[in-house]
Amino acid sequence: MTPASPASERFPVVVVGAGPAGLVLGSVLRDAGVGCLVLESETREFIERRPRAGVIEEWVVRGLERRGLARGLLERAQRHGECEFRFGGERFRFRYGELTGLHHWVYPQQFLVTDLVREYADVRGGAIRFGVRDVRLDGMDSERPSVSYTDPGTGERPTVECAFVAGCDGARGVTRAAMPADRVRTARLDYGIGWLALLAEAPQSADCVVFGMHPRGFAGHMQRSTDVTRYYLQCPPGDDPEAWSHRRVWAELRERLAAGGAPPLNEGRLIEKRVLDMHNYVVEPMAAGRLFLAGDAAHLTAPIAAKGMNLALHDAFLLGEGLVARLTKGDGDGLSAYSATCLRRVWDYQEFSQWLSEVYHGTASGDPYRAGTTLARLRRLFDSPVAAAAFAEQYLGARTVA
Ligand code: FAD
Repeated sequence: MTPASPASERFPVVVVGAGPAGLVLGSVLRDAGVGCLVLESETREFIERRPRAGVIEEWVVRGLERRGLARGLLERAQRHGECEFRFGGERFRFRYGELTGLHHWVYPQQFLVTDLVREYADVRGGAIRFGVRDVRLDGMDSERPSVSYTDPGTGERPTVECAFVAGCDGARGVTRAAMPADRVRTARLDYGIGWLALLAEAPQSADCVVFGMHPRGFAGHMQRSTDVTRYYLQCPPGDDPEAWSHRRVWAELRERLAAGGAPPLNEGRLIEKRVLDMHNYVVEPMAAGRLFLAGDAAHLTAPIAAKGMNLALHDAFLLGEGLVARLTKGDGDGLSAYSATCLRRVWDYQEFSQWLSEVYHGTASGDPYRAGTTLARLRRLFDSPVAAAAFAEQYLGARTVA
């Protein structure tokens, strides 16, 4: 027998998903005195430990700082102003910090999420429910939208009435499916490539991010913290991570990242090993009726250019401002412009990811024509100051203010 539904509650905004987008949005709303409820399907402990992103662009850091959300990041993150391309057995340093005056900040996503949960729930007193099941959206085209869910403790199905719903539940959530199919389209790109994503319990093996373009496939090195390093190895999509033994992983990394004068790799225990199938999608528009999507729920960029979380936070900043203006001053301009403003940046980053994918993967495509044009793109970065400046601007999202 299904337990009886308790009396319904009311919050101006229900946020589905406590990832970076949902938590930043919640904090912006709380800061302006707007009530909201965050519903998250996992436990707090789980989301505070889930490793994913690490590279945050300077404009995002400044956007977090302006909203009082960057204290931990500013204290603990590393700043990077250089990366290294390795190809043809040589190393090429790319000094984007010198070209732009801006940096990448390296701060593991789980550290940021931990800071954001604390700020939203413990400091700003935001309501949040963890471990909820079967979230369902109703009446998104009406004046009285609502969200219901199964409470993990009681098994009851509370209904929360609200004015707006923010779908911040990532790539595998439920809110994207609640968008009306006749008014929304989804554009997709499948690269047909897999990446073995690894976390190694080992200090970094270079003092910056390293991209290795090798006939055997792409390899990447990215510091996460002093004792954990992320590595990537291009592999067939759908490959079995268990086919990658410790010995095979490190042999392949050594071969693909080899270059004259490069320091040896610091080997360590592999604490994460999973295959990501590289694909992108964009939902257009990102809003319908009372439902607004943000972050990976609306658009996915494979981690090729490390853009996904940066875009998610951009959405959260804009959606937060739009909702605050609408709910506190009756000004709906920000909400009306939300989707178009976000999509401009989203498509810009999608295009850069696609361009960069060819740089990473063309050498190993088996097609000598693609290998040749890839090499030309790489050389141009180091031969042409104009090409270098354009790359640095895209790599850092340098034109964005949030
Ligand atoms: P998520 O972080 O996915 O959060 C969504 C939340 O919703 C989750 O907590 C989830 O548990 C919850 N949820 C899901 N379904 C439901 C439901 N039905 N009901 C309630 N809650 C639900 N991006 C960068 O910018 N830089 C990087 O360096 C970078 N590196 C990456 C490396 C890897 C290996 C991967 C996989 C991704 C990387 N990304 C990077 C992308 C980045 O991790 C994502 O873009 C980011 O997490 C998106 O944030 P979000 O808040 O939109 O979604």
